[in-house]
Amino acid sequence: KFITIEGSDGAGKTTVLSKILKIIQPIMKDKLVISREPGGNPIAEEIRDVILNPKNTAMDSKTEALLYAAARRQNVVQTILPALKHGKLVLCDRFLDSSIAYQGGGREIGTKKIFDVNQFATDGLEPDVTIYLNVPFQLGIERIKKHRQNDIDRLDREKLSFHKRVHDAYQELLSHHSDRIKSIDASQPIDKVVQDVLKLLKNEASD
Ligand code: C5P
Ligand code: MG
Repeated sequence: KFITIEGSDGAGKTTVLSKILKIIQPIMKDKLVISREPGGNPIAEEIRDVILNPKNTAMDSKTEALLYAAARRQNVVQTILPALKHGKLVLCDRFLDSSIAYQGGGREIGTKKIFDVNQFATDGLEPDVTIYLNVPFQLGIERIKKHRQNDIDRLDREKLSFHKRVHDAYQELLSHHSDRIKSIDASQPIDKVVQDVLKLLKNEASD
């Protein structure tokens, strides 16, 4: 089974995921394969370094989109597909929905173009379930300002309108794929969010 976890900046994805893993890793052991995007294997991690290097200010948005797709391709071929073939549960921190939201919405390349490029990259692989940590736009921004000093630069660089477009694109995805994407209210206290995610994972792992 292929499960992805998504959220806009400040949704609490990193914190929630680390708490979840502490709980489920000892239970599932090698039945669980964890991956992240961009990255998840040595080649994709090298691509990640290029994408997220703040010195690369000349990065064109289509170049960025292609690099995300390239990293995703490598991750699909090298990590995700082999694990699925062996009947593992693959939990991936971000996948195609992130590109739709960030490159399609945030960078205004458009949903359709990003989708098409990624069909080439993934051969159409789709998650069985996507856990979306849903947080109101303003709350996400406030959390970054309060708790993530190292992200303030990025926040300034990207401007609020960028984050708003990312958020809106996620909401749009959610409205079109309500079967696949399970929205969790991430404005709740962190432990409640963790409980909600665990409950969902438990259901999914058992069928
Ligand atoms: O998931 P995480 O928060 O670690 O992602 C690192 C950064 O990469 C985030 O700040 C996010 O905004 C950005 N990102 C992006 N496009 C993607 C995936 C992530 O701009 N497709
Ligand atoms: Mg994060």
